[in-house]
Amino acid sequence: MHPRLAADRDGLPHLLETVQQHAAGVLAGLCEREVVPAARLPEPDPLPGHGDGLRAALEEFAARWEPALSASAGPRYLGFVTGGVTPAALAGDWMTAAWDQNSFSSLDGAGQHLERETIGWLRTLFGLSDRQHGTFVSGATMSNTVGLAIAREWLGEQQGVSPAEHGVGALGPVRVLSGAAHSSVPKALAMLGVGRQALVRVATRPGREAVDLTALEQALARGEADGPCVVVANAGTVNTVDFDDLRAIAALRERYSFWLHVDAAFGAFAALSPAHAHLVDGLELADSVCVDLHKWLNVPYDSAVQFTRRPDLQTRVFQNAAAYLGPLGDTPDTVHLTPENSRRLRALAAWFTLRAYGRDGHREIVERCIGCARALGEAVDDTPGLRLLAPVRLNVVCFTLADDPTAERLAALAEQLEPVAFLTPTVLDGVPALRAAFSNWQTTETDTRRVAAALQAATHEMHTAYQW
Ligand SMILES: *Cc1c(COP(=O)(O)O)cnc(C)c1O
Repeated sequence: MHPRLAADRDGLPHLLETVQQHAAGVLAGLCEREVVPAARLPEPDPLPGHGDGLRAALEEFAARWEPALSASAGPRYLGFVTGGVTPAALAGDWMTAAWDQNSFSSLDGAGQHLERETIGWLRTLFGLSDRQHGTFVSGATMSNTVGLAIAREWLGEQQGVSPAEHGVGALGPVRVLSGAAHSSVPKALAMLGVGRQALVRVATRPGREAVDLTALEQALARGEADGPCVVVANAGTVNTVDFDDLRAIAALRERYSFWLHVDAAFGAFAALSPAHAHLVDGLELADSVCVDLHKWLNVPYDSAVQFTRRPDLQTRVFQNAAAYLGPLGDTPDTVHLTPENSRRLRALAAWFTLRAYGRDGHREIVERCIGCARALGEAVDDTPGLRLLAPVRLNVVCFTLADDPTAERLAALAEQLEPVAFLTPTVLDGVPALRAAFSNWQTTETDTRRVAAALQAATHEMHTAYQW
């Protein structure tokens, strides 16, 4: 063995203590460090010929790279929809690497069983039915992709062909109807060979991102001659967290034939709050459902789950038939269910946090985030020069400048905030805007007050400068 490697092996318990202390220091500083640091990016170094061992690697990482990393796991990183890592999820992730299971087959241990237990817990958490089988994937984009791959196979079944066997060319024209689909949906359609153009944008309700049911029904009726189609319903849009009426959409299947996929990447967590659970009423009726876990469950990247009622179609698409993997059987191994072959025991971080804090603990996180979003929404409403673009329905505040809301001025406003908070830009109905999304387990009312104060000061400054 290389002497450096042997030395690290022999000193491992001690080295891990050093790493643990370093990680504890990072986490202790997370709430106070600049959310997006102004530090310069290091230049790339050449590949080291000789290594200096773990301790030197840690020191160099800390000196060269850490100053430029953002506090994205911290409480005032409100860009995109970003979760942090609960203490138990962190432990689960460390254990995932320590055990380093290849969770793809059940030939060698209990990994798959732990995954199934965790899926069962998540199903209960989101109020799904026992018939919705789940599999871990890397993120909501992959979850939407797997869901739509199963939908594609279902379309084939309706036409008496198998796209998994004969290619998408075997299918007639594919239509995917959606009100305000996330950008990952056209991406998934591109990957699946169906093509981005298959996505038909259905009108949304006036001033809303929720689909207009009459327009959806008309689109279904118009396309009836072309045969069954796919509807992507949205449970939590990223701009204004709007929800399609899932139960009403599902009921349309009595008259029209379509596969119902629901993108509930973070909206599914509304189910944890009794006051908001009605927003996802009907989720249990979907044929496939996408839920992200690295957002509001606060497990580390990358983690999401894909649920479907048709695991048989899923295995038709993703089966990886090889003599060494054994037969499919009644409960197929995950190697037959997702795009990956080898994969980490991704369920473990979710298992840890659910085991440690339970439904109540995660409900408290969700409700606290909703409370923070409400409070920031009220502060925005009370700030001269700012304008809310939508009511705060759940955990996102979408707002813009009252006067001359150009993308440049909003970017300047966001940049002013950056030591204190990170917000991301968007465009809603043609109006450039900013979004603040709350999904971190550590965010408190105090953080919200700090963000509101920084926002008010920056808006005031911008307004004064503008008048000059
Ligand atoms: C975040 C998000 C996605 C994509 O999720 P990734 O985990 O980044 O792949 C898809 N849909 C919705 C509604 C989202 O919020």
